[in-house]
Amino acid sequence: MARQLGTQQRRWDTVVVEADPERLAARRQFGDRELDSDLLHIVRHAPTEWAWYREALPEPDYPWRYVRESIHRADDRGILKTRRSGNRIEIKQIAPYPDWVDRLIAIENKPDLDASAARQLADQLQHDVDTALADEVWVATAKTDRRVEPALLESLPVEAGILTTDFEEGVDVDSASVEWYPTRLTSGQESDQHNRRLELAERAYGRGWRRYYKTMRPDCRQFQLRRAGRVLLPWCEAKACHQSSTVCGSSCGDFEPEPPAWRTRGWPIEGGPGRGIKQLLDQRAKAANRRAETNQAETTRSE
Ligand code: SF4
Repeated sequence: MARQLGTQQRRWDTVVVEADPERLAARRQFGDRELDSDLLHIVRHAPTEWAWYREALPEPDYPWRYVRESIHRADDRGILKTRRSGNRIEIKQIAPYPDWVDRLIAIENKPDLDASAARQLADQLQHDVDTALADEVWVATAKTDRRVEPALLESLPVEAGILTTDFEEGVDVDSASVEWYPTRLTSGQESDQHNRRLELAERAYGRGWRRYYKTMRPDCRQFQLRRAGRVLLPWCEAKACHQSSTVCGSSCGDFEPEPPAWRTRGWPIEGGPGRGIKQLLDQRAKAANRRAETNQAETTRSE
């Protein structure tokens, strides 16, 4: 998930990249940094056997000398193998670049969606529908107690989904309601569009990773984990919502330390449930890393 991400023409408040876990783990072989469009062009087409780069890569719509520069950049980053054969540069892939992106979901947060904000937003959403870069676009707006949510009365493109939720103290996922389902925008994509989606997903990837349990308070007695599909999300029992890391910190008014008795009540892990939660999430992160290393080792062995 990345915030404030987009293209030159359009920037969204939130972009969610849904990824296949195995292929996402395989992506780690190409490092933690984003791959820009030039690097993507190379790693996606790099051959499994040594070949002259001009024969291996598709003809670019810009001069070959720029491709050569990108090849050197890729080599410096360790994401491509290169060697000289006379005057020629030969290249070979370090591993197949995985097609790791399943879906892109773009979300605009507009807690106060009045008529003039809706008018502005309508043009932007229409652009999203026309370009179909994301699979779905959503508007998240504040829930009201009216019988018909005002957002439904605004003239937004029908393809955009509308979600209402409580914006106070983090987004309450469980009480969020879908007022209007979006239309899937990306059936039968052109390859150019596929490339641009991948560039966007790479930008999200390059923003980096944050382990929420390192910035939150799993040592609070109100801290729990709840499963949402394939992931475990933090849940605050006191606030009855999936809390954000902004509220779940040392300044939280509802913070309650784990009672000392919990730490001695035969918990299998020394230190109580908070420590157990950290260990569990750590193990899951390490398992993902191991999968990536195994993928890399298998690729190297097969060479
Ligand atoms: S009460 Fe506060 S510190 Fe404790 S889990 Fe909830 S948000 Fe985090």
